[in-house]
Amino acid sequence: MAMIYCRDCGYKHSDRARACPKCGRAEFDADKSIAVYLILLWLFGVFGAHRFYAGKTKSGLAILIMFLFGLFSFPILAAFAGMGADAVAVLFIGLGLGAFCAACIWVFVDFIVALCNIKHPEKIFANIKKVK
Ligand SMILES: [Zn+2]
Repeated sequence: MAMIYCRDCGYKHSDRARACPKCGRAEFDADKSIAVYLILLWLFGVFGAHRFYAGKTKSGLAILIMFLFGLFSFPILAAFAGMGADAVAVLFIGLGLGAFCAACIWVFVDFIVALCNIKHPEKIFANIKKVK
């Protein structure tokens, strides 16, 4: 067992504590790792994997749906291109491309936010409990 200093108030306490006994600042949740989060984000970010891991299921699903919708609009684009695309196809492909790009940008922003908050996991993980 090691002693660590609270990053907020400087109170010395056991590293086993989930939160600072003095000010209640949540320490790193042992069940969640920033490294795992970043790996998931890097490899499977467009599937929302990192957000599922962080306990943000709804936005994870949103990324997954946007990405898959975008992905599946490409083969449909190819099929329509052979037939001569009509206005509906163009609209659908536009929406698909937009969703695809939005999902990618969202994941990129998540990556930047994660890198900026490596020392503040409570800002990334929704399910870290504040104990007071
Ligand atoms: Zn503290």
